[in-house]
Amino acid sequence: MPRARIQPFTLRGYHGEPTAGTVTIHEFNREQRLRRALAGLGKWWGVALVCVLIPVAHFVLVPSFLVYGTWQFFQRLGTAELATDARGVCPDCGAEQALELAPRWRAPQPVTCRQCHRGLRLTLPS
Ligand SMILES: [Zn+2]
Repeated sequence: MPRARIQPFTLRGYHGEPTAGTVTIHEFNREQRLRRALAGLGKWWGVALVCVLIPVAHFVLVPSFLVYGTWQFFQRLGTAELATDARGVCPDCGAEQALELAPRWRAPQPVTCRQCHRGLRLTLPS
């Protein structure tokens, strides 16, 4: 099992006071990254294989899923820290929400409020 830690962060908007939130970061070692990458590759190449059976559409679908699977493979291989379950309060409108973050954890990064659709900035607390 990958190790996980809770990472506190700060959300900044345009007007309001910065707010605090948390995100769960899963840490993968080299072997876990490879296993995740192979699982992703197998899944999408499996879908591509099934699409071979669809007439006409397979000309588009099969290469698309093969390419997507390969892209996923390298994405996952390079993802040492995966961010999930990010929660925070929008500093501009005050809505508490689950935040949509880039899967590969990095800070700072831009996020968008689901309520007011303003661009916010996620940073690590100093
Ligand atoms: Zn908002």
